Amino acid sequence: MSKLPNVGTTIFSVMSALAAEHKAINLSQGFPDFDCSDELKAMVNDAMQQGYNQYAPMPGLPALRNAIAEKVMALYGQQVDPETEITITPGGTYAIYTAIAAYIHPGDEVIIFEPAYDSYIPNVLVNGGKPVRISLSFPDYRINWQEVRSKITPRTKMIMINTPHNPTGAILQEEDILELEKLVAEFDLLVLSDEVYEHLVYDGAQHLSILKYPNIFRNSFVTFSFGKVFHNTGWKMGYCIAPKHLMQEYRKVHQYLCFSVNTPMQHGLARFLATPSHYLELSSFYQEKRDYFLELMRDSRFTPLASKGSYFQLMKYDRISDEGDKAFATRITKEFGVASIPVSAFYENGKDDHVVRFCFAKKKETLEQAAARLSRI
Ligand code: GLN
Repeated sequence: MSKLPNVGTTIFSVMSALAAEHKAINLSQGFPDFDCSDELKAMVNDAMQQGYNQYAPMPGLPALRNAIAEKVMALYGQQVDPETEITITPGGTYAIYTAIAAYIHPGDEVIIFEPAYDSYIPNVLVNGGKPVRISLSFPDYRINWQEVRSKITPRTKMIMINTPHNPTGAILQEEDILELEKLVAEFDLLVLSDEVYEHLVYDGAQHLSILKYPNIFRNSFVTFSFGKVFHNTGWKMGYCIAPKHLMQEYRKVHQYLCFSVNTPMQHGLARFLATPSHYLELSSFYQEKRDYFLELMRDSRFTPLASKGSYFQLMKYDRISDEGDKAFATRITKEFGVASIPVSAFYENGKDDHVVRFCFAKKKETLEQAAARLSRI
């Protein structure tokens, strides 16, 4: 019997395949269409040439964990012990899965906000947990904390948050964090904070990492991705930060899931991280892209929703069509040559607000061509 009877192929694979089949511009799956830094590639290459080609230590290369600890201190003022509180993972999705696998027992409830990144719910289900879904408000995608409180039961084990949020681009505000802090203290909840877009925050806003809040961090797993930061999603490199007592259990699972992550890339990333501008300039880099895409789309019949972070821009298409979003996204891929992600794919019950997600992590020319096609719809 299937452990995940209702799970099909992920929408990212489906839409990327459709884009390839119809030679459409692929603004669906989130990844840059430009290359990562030559300097970083040379650093990885150096490591290979120097013979760093065998297993790394199970939790990750000490040099990389040290570089991460320094970054976390500088950005979020949190002292984390690289020896016991950071684990390097093959990507952010894996980092999330491992926390769930380590802590969720059959019957445990996990609060998940929808639209939710598509791996969260299957991750909980495959471990026997019970996802408790709460919809974010529409169209500003905020959390109703009263509702969260009303859904907490004696079985509630964990609450998952994601800021900046995929697919909506919403970011948590200070008042959200304060509400979360109260619930964590009152009900002793674990928090899984997916912060893979930490450096992609716009209009002068600050990323509110859970690492800045010791009262929450003491119950939290915080997950990150190098792919989003250094434009190399295909490297599948990420990490998890958690206090020692949680990380101990996390590593018990990690050591038998993949044991350790590829060595030369860890060397390269450790060296590259030593220069803070490599990540500090990302917000302005991507804000320029978001603003350019919005500008190019101004005369189209799409209506943008606010994107305050991530590299995604949601667009309503109700001035164009009343089709469901999956039908609409499929049709514009085939007929107009631009692929997007239908946001209903991020709701278990398929809630359809007639919104599609475009990824703007693309070269200027790509955005120009895509917007020209979208403006003809
Ligand atoms: N995170 C990427 C997105 O949201 C996709 C990752 C994947 O394809 N699994 O589009």
